Amino acid sequence: VAKESGRNQHQIFSEDMLKETADRLMLEHALRHAIANGEMEMHYQPQVSLTTGAITGMEALLRWTHPRLGKISPAQFIPLAEETGLIVSIGEWAFMRSCCEGKALQDELGMDLTISVNLSPRQFQQKNLVQVIEHCLAKSGLAASDLEIEITEGILMVNSHDNLDKLQKIRELGVRISIDDFGTGFCSFSYLLQYQVDRLKIDQSFVRQAETDINAASVVRTIIAMSHGLNIKVVAEGVETDEQLRFLLRKKCDEAQGNFLGLPVAARDFAAAARLYGSNMGSLQGLEVR
Ligand code: C2E
Ligand code: MG
Ligand code: MG
Ligand code: MG
Repeated sequence: VAKESGRNQHQIFSEDMLKETADRLMLEHALRHAIANGEMEMHYQPQVSLTTGAITGMEALLRWTHPRLGKISPAQFIPLAEETGLIVSIGEWAFMRSCCEGKALQDELGMDLTISVNLSPRQFQQKNLVQVIEHCLAKSGLAASDLEIEITEGILMVNSHDNLDKLQKIRELGVRISIDDFGTGFCSFSYLLQYQVDRLKIDQSFVRQAETDINAASVVRTIIAMSHGLNIKVVAEGVETDEQLRFLLRKKCDEAQGNFLGLPVAARDFAAAARLYGSNMGSLQGLEVR
């Protein structure tokens, strides 16, 4: 191949490849030690009821700050963690941390808060997943009904007996199940019936486009109507503007999450922000809340 494509091309190609491989190996090495070195923490983003304006829960999101490389986005390291299998140990840590900090926040604020934790496909395949969840609940003291796992449509699509069985066992614990990034995969409503999910999260791409694109607006409206017909609650992700929030209110979306309502922050900052939000009776006050 090198000879055919010429010397220069070959060199450019291999240098890029080498750099990419070296970067990847370095990142993988760093990731392998991130938990032990105390470089990871969880941030929490509020989820707000569009019926009452109150904070109903929060999504736990991993944050990694490397001493030399700085902040590394989950969009970058979660796929790497998936490919290398590191997601299993990192995910377990994240799960335990979210349950413990979630329980502490509930106690401190005296609020009902649902803690939503993301589970990636490889984590879901983990043989002892149900035991890991049970262990996290027992150790943290968090009520199963206050825990929700966020999975993607892909997990439902793999029509395996194993996945169905696992989801049923998780439900039997009393843990809730939500479908993340809904609309971006190939999930059909028949899967939703089969798996009995509690919530759908409309992917942020639709929320963003709905303002300007009537087709995206239609998708949002349709997801809400069909979900309500199936008794499934709908959360809109990535709400960034007042206009987006008003649109979701009009369409009777149940809940919303996004930077307009609250950024993901560390647990201590979440407590302060939730108190402030509560004392202002919510930033939704000026809006037409049902
Ligand atoms: P996700 O579960 O769909 O999480 C929502 C993402 O949207 C988060 O990105 C959040 O910070 C971001 N976001 C929230 N509001 C807004 C907004 O108004 N505008 C914009 N532009 N973005 C907003 P983040 O934290 O970078 O996480 C990316 C993805 O990485 C997550 O997508 C999730 O799939 C994965 N991830 C994050 N934490 C964990 C974890 O603890 N475990 C696992 N397995 N995956 C995680
Ligand atoms: Mg999520
Ligand atoms: Mg999402
Ligand atoms: Mg996602």
